[in-house]
Amino acid sequence: MTRHTVQVATLGFPRIGPKRELKTALEAYWAGKTDAEALLSAAAQLRSLTWARQRDLGADVVPSNDFSLYDHVLDLTAMVGAVPPAYGWRGDRVDLATYFAMARGSRGDGQACAHGHAHASGEGTPAMEMTKWFDTNYHYLAPEFTADQVFRLGSTKALDEYLEARALGIETRPVLLGPVSYLLLGKTRGEPFDVLSLLPRLLPIYAEVLRSLARAGATWVQMDEPCLVTDLSDEAKAAYDHAYRVLTDVTPPIKLMLTTYFGGLGDNLEAVLRLPVHGLHIDLIRAPEQLAQVASAARVDQVLSLGVIDGRNVWKADLNAVLDKVEPLVAAGRRVVIAPSSSLLHAPIDLERETGLDPEIKDWLAFAVQKVAELATLARALNEGRGAVKAALDASTASVASRRTSPRINDPKVQARAADADPALALRNSCFEIRRQVQRGRLNLPAYPTTTIGSFPQTAGIRKARADHGRGVIDDAAYARLLRDETARAIKWQEALGLDVLVHGEFERNDMVQYFGEHLSGFVFTKAAWVQSYGSRCVRPPILYGDVARPRPMTVEWWRYAQGLTDRPVKGMLTGPVTILNWSFVRDDQPRSTTCRQIAFAIRDEVVDLETAGAAVIQIDEAALREGLPLRRADWDDYLEWAVESFRITASGVRDETQIHTHMCYSEFNDIIQAIGAMDADVISIETSRSRMELLDAFSDYRYPAEIGPGVYDIHSPRVPTVEAMTALLKAAARKLPQDRLWVNPDCGLKTRAWPETEAALANMVTAARLMRAGE
Ligand code: GLN
Ligand code: ZN
Repeated sequence: MTRHTVQVATLGFPRIGPKRELKTALEAYWAGKTDAEALLSAAAQLRSLTWARQRDLGADVVPSNDFSLYDHVLDLTAMVGAVPPAYGWRGDRVDLATYFAMARGSRGDGQACAHGHAHASGEGTPAMEMTKWFDTNYHYLAPEFTADQVFRLGSTKALDEYLEARALGIETRPVLLGPVSYLLLGKTRGEPFDVLSLLPRLLPIYAEVLRSLARAGATWVQMDEPCLVTDLSDEAKAAYDHAYRVLTDVTPPIKLMLTTYFGGLGDNLEAVLRLPVHGLHIDLIRAPEQLAQVASAARVDQVLSLGVIDGRNVWKADLNAVLDKVEPLVAAGRRVVIAPSSSLLHAPIDLERETGLDPEIKDWLAFAVQKVAELATLARALNEGRGAVKAALDASTASVASRRTSPRINDPKVQARAADADPALALRNSCFEIRRQVQRGRLNLPAYPTTTIGSFPQTAGIRKARADHGRGVIDDAAYARLLRDETARAIKWQEALGLDVLVHGEFERNDMVQYFGEHLSGFVFTKAAWVQSYGSRCVRPPILYGDVARPRPMTVEWWRYAQGLTDRPVKGMLTGPVTILNWSFVRDDQPRSTTCRQIAFAIRDEVVDLETAGAAVIQIDEAALREGLPLRRADWDDYLEWAVESFRITASGVRDETQIHTHMCYSEFNDIIQAIGAMDADVISIETSRSRMELLDAFSDYRYPAEIGPGVYDIHSPRVPTVEAMTALLKAAARKLPQDRLWVNPDCGLKTRAWPETEAALANMVTAARLMRAGE
């Protein structure tokens, strides 16, 4: 039997650059400090370094067209000329101005909200809508289609980048987001219609691009179809059938690597195996169990691309364990390519930039660069035998063993506590109605009580002081003094305005997850491990590597200081366990549910300490609860069950008279409303201003039992909402929900806003609440 040589492929590499060079270049260009030529040459420079790097690390198949100036879904929209009419594009190729208008709005002043989503504001055409890319923290620009949508070739980027690499002596495999996933990720405009009905019009553009690539010399194209790991209708399966029959038929011929990731093919497997594609990539990190089935069912002439290295996390792989799985396939004569499970877009770039990390922990980690090197080691072992890379394999085994047994990871006390299955831990003492009576007596709030979500403007002064403090330019005392002054000003100012439940302002927090990660054990922070969130925006998620404990109180002193300045209640302000979990790189050696439960106990201790210090109101933010939903419906219940239980563990250590708030800033609750109710918070604040209170229907249909603060102030925009606008929203809310359960608050935190508009908007908000109380 012929043994085929095993190749290493990467499916996509981070674009932002090891030092976030792309961010710098984009922001200079947007600010008008540099011209298009400078931007484009910086981008070309990054691409050439990235290609060369992957090749030098040992990748045989290097991708092109995985780079993007902003977003790869937007690139596809440009490629097929699906520019929404509002951007006034008539032309031939989509130019930079049109491209960035779609990304950021035509005035280019897209605003980020407290959780980092950009929203266009002000005059001009707003940006296209941004949504999360499957279950990652990357955001893409959702395509928008009309029933009479016309497609035409609007960009030759895929061809240009292929040729660019070729001119550098690097043969690449261009990447395209596949046509069916592209349509399924889109939204319709106007009368609702089935997006898949556009497929026949879309395919000719793909065929044209494939032909141009084939003529230029490309032999393979990577077609990403991540929707194949989601629940698909029969129509969608038929669309796949049609699309790939058409696209494998183009002349001159080109081979397609159908690429799936973020989950298993599950019940779509049969449909996928029918497709006449030349290769199939499967994710064996999220769905290791699919290997046997796919390997036995795929056609023998099909190349199997095995996603054996985690493209989305930061841990070193157990290389010998991977070899145990892949060797039998190779021995049996299968054509095998090994690859990361998904694009490496979601991993930080290079571990070697982390000079400050504890060496023991650093030895457990692998970023994008290290992952390609791991694949190269695996390929050598598969092609030449394990003996050829013995040292590397032994090192991998040693790292894996060290991570399993390190006392840094294992804290028996934490493990024992999280294993405590006493259901009472997740129950408040009394039911909501009883708690409500006690809390009313204690807080004595007016009808339509006013509050804010937590953060106040993080001014340039605060950010500078934090940076200076980090670099040792100002000492702890000076930094603390500045934060205390800001907090005191915020308290005085809220009192003067007449807000009912105050916040301390979160001036001491860099980020709502990072702050807690820095105070909990089991987390480590990096210096340069940036991951693209959208466009030029990057995040540096904490790495949760071990059992999570809270060595000492994290927020109590700030709360105590703030409460000492006023007689009105100041909310204790915490981030919930599910949000901390979903916004971190988390350990892969135990179920996420277990990790979440550990975080829940740690935050519970903080809740109890805040109560003991005297806090009457404590808010536990769960901004990321919804986005943690699994890709498959069948897995939702399980996730929601442990996520809600974790929240309840966090919230249930307090007495009836302590009022627990939660906050979630998004606008889809219909399908999870029962779980939201099961969280059993006393008050929930949500984002509603832009949906004009429509989303409250979910709460009223379900008869949500507790109190609700529907956001009346869109914090994504510097525009100051008028009193009338806010009373109109409150009246709409009062028609849907019992008036005595309504709170008045903004959609989310105000950290990205400036003071003048914040003051004006909150003054109007307090006036609106007063008018509602007066029944006007
Ligand atoms: N308390 C946080 C803040 O106000 C909540 C942020 C969020 O929901 N994303 O900034
Ligand atoms: Zn929010």
